[in-house]
Amino acid sequence: MTSTRTHLTRRDFIASSALMLGTLAHGATVATAEEVIDIHQHTNYAGRTDEELIRHQRGMGITKTLLLPSGRLVKSRSTHFGRSNGLAARCGGSESVAALAAEHPDEFICGANDVPDLPDSVQELEKWLKRGARIIAEQKFSLPSDSPDIRKFAEVARDYQVPMLLHFQVGEYNLGFENFWRILEAFPTVNFIGHAQTWWSCVDEYWDGESLYPKGSVVPGGLTDRYLSNYPNMYGDLSAGSGLNFLLRDEAHSQWFLQRHQDRLLFGSDCDDKDGGGPQCQGAQTLATLRRLLPRPEVRRKILSGNARRLLKL
Ligand SMILES: [Zn+2]
Ligand SMILES: [Zn+2]
Repeated sequence: MTSTRTHLTRRDFIASSALMLGTLAHGATVATAEEVIDIHQHTNYAGRTDEELIRHQRGMGITKTLLLPSGRLVKSRSTHFGRSNGLAARCGGSESVAALAAEHPDEFICGANDVPDLPDSVQELEKWLKRGARIIAEQKFSLPSDSPDIRKFAEVARDYQVPMLLHFQVGEYNLGFENFWRILEAFPTVNFIGHAQTWWSCVDEYWDGESLYPKGSVVPGGLTDRYLSNYPNMYGDLSAGSGLNFLLRDEAHSQWFLQRHQDRLLFGSDCDDKDGGGPQCQGAQTLATLRRLLPRPEVRRKILSGNARRLLKL
């Protein structure tokens, strides 16, 4: 009998029993339940009900979900005169995410959001931040990414010490990704999280400047890599089809990139189906791909939960 065995505590025994039971119950080879924080979900996403969302998250094996509200519904230039209301996907607003988080506080937390160029948008953000919202997101509006309105929201993020997540999509949202360094430099204490097509396309130094889901091998050294390397307040959100496309297009490169920026990348699903598993569920595919590309548990834990815990103060 080894000394470890001799000194097995009651707590160790219970833990190992739970592991064994888990193995028996699921018949699986991997028995450990891994903590997974999903930093990118929405209520009413493409019309999905709260019950369907809860089932979807549990199906994926998510421990905690961060719900990102849309801004208020307005017809303005920044919402493409209404076309991009509800984050262009019928997503729920601040009332909707706060209600679900209040009903299931163990499983859901939420963010604050609004349309930046509305005259009272700062007050709207502050209302929800004072009630415990943990992030300003999802910022998905047609404004230059270094505009005065984005600066105005970054000031709120700074004052309330919360991160801010932006959807970068060429020609549509948070325009001029190449100018975002001005915000990173002006707000060194605010953590910014990059998301979506342009963010993930720009891992490639030779991005064509317009493809939303580019395929094939990546030439390292693109703008996304430079932002992550040069600015300690820049983070990356692996959610959505854009994150999954990045992971799959050149796996040797993505493995290198995940190791290189292991302290700055976060799992999110941004998945809108009702399945929560299987080939139709992009969130489940992203999670499975990350587990496959990240065999070392210490790096995987950072990306699936540790970095989110630190950033969201969980
Ligand atoms: Zn989203
Ligand atoms: Zn899904």
